[in-house]
Order: sequence, then structure tokens, then C-alpha cells
Amino acid sequence: MNKLFIASNNAHKIEEIRDILLRNNIELELVCPKDFNCSEEPVEDGETFEENAYIKARFYHDLYNLPTIADDSGICIDYLGGRPGIHSARFLPEMSYPEKCAYIVDIMKDIKNRGAQFVDCMCFIDKDSNVYYYKGVNEGEIAEKVAGTKGFGYDPIFLIPEYNQTEAELGEEYKNEYSHRAKALKKWIIDAKDKL
Ligand code: IMP
Repeated sequence: MNKLFIASNNAHKIEEIRDILLRNNIELELVCPKDFNCSEEPVEDGETFEENAYIKARFYHDLYNLPTIADDSGICIDYLGGRPGIHSARFLPEMSYPEKCAYIVDIMKDIKNRGAQFVDCMCFIDKDSNVYYYKGVNEGEIAEKVAGTKGFGYDPIFLIPEYNQTEAELGEEYKNEYSHRAKALKKWIIDAKDKL
């Protein structure tokens, strides 16, 4: 079975990627830094999702020489001028995710423009070291209250207006078909089958 290296230490992301591939009948042996007891991590100092995804994919491709996919993702909130964006993981560093979610809901309690996007850029480096990018964007709104226990990160405040539920209420049945990550990975699936 072909191997694919997932350049992430985020167990939630890895599980989502595994499930999205399974749903699309893609059989691959997925390996990640943990499987190599790898404690080294790249410095994500890019200025765009693409740059950070490339930094991660290149770092692990250079270490293990396997076809490697990395995703860089984040939430972009209209009211905050698109922030935290690429800084989503490092935004409000003193707070836990439930605290961050509660804080965002609180500062936006009187705000009418609630638009937000989840963005995911995947960078894939194939066995011959060719580099490819796939982007997925999911449009939503910042919920008026924190809701749901599924998913991770900002899922409890990312409202999908069509369902009037957050991604943390909708869970994997929704996310692994329609999320930013699912959209980007489905593009990779169409394009990359022959490049492993
Ligand atoms: P990175 O891509 O590992 O640099 O971090 C992305 C950060 O964006 C995560 O740590 C979360 O805070 C947030 N994020 C990205 N994707 C999701 C998602 O699917 N649900 C909730 N939060 C997400």
C-alpha cells in the first residue's frame, strides 16, 4: 500500500484527514511525525496559508523522503479584518479554546456583520519533489453563543447558516464532507492519485 506522510501533530486534523480519505475510498498507509517519534517541528513563519503549508510539507519531506501532505488552516473573521487567519493556533495564547470561543462571542455580541470563513491550504510534495497546492474555503458565521462538543478549536462558534448549527454540533458527518479541510483534500484526491 502506498504511504502518505501527514505533516501534522494535531490529532484532530489527522483523524479528519483519515476519515475524509476513507469516505472517498482512498486506501493509503498514513504516517505522521509521531510514528517516527519525531520531536522536531518546523517554524511556521510564513505570511500566507500557502507559505506555512509549504514550510511544513518541505520540512518533513526533507526528513523522511515520503510523499507528504501538510495543511495550514485557520478561521478568518470579517469583523476582525480577516484575523486571526494564519495566526489561529497562536491567537489569544493565554486562553484555552473554550475561553477563546467565549471571548470572540462576547466581543461580537452587538455586531451585525458575523461573516467568517474557515480556510485550508494543503501543500503536497510528491515522490519526485514536485509541489502542488489545494485550497478549500467554507463560509459561515460567528454564532451568537458557543454550542456543541464535537470537532475542535473554533468549531463551537462556527455557525453553518443552512443548518443553524455550529460545526461542533454538526460533527464529522458534516465536517468530513463540507469543511474547508474536506474541500481541499477532495481536490487533492482528484489530482494526486497518480502522484504517490
Ligand atoms: P495550523 O493549521 O496547525 O497552523 O493551525 C490551525 C488552527 O486553526 C487550529 O489550531 C485551530 O485553532 C484552527 N482550525 C483549523 N481548522 C479548524 C477546524 O476544522 N476546526 C476548528 N478550528 C480549526
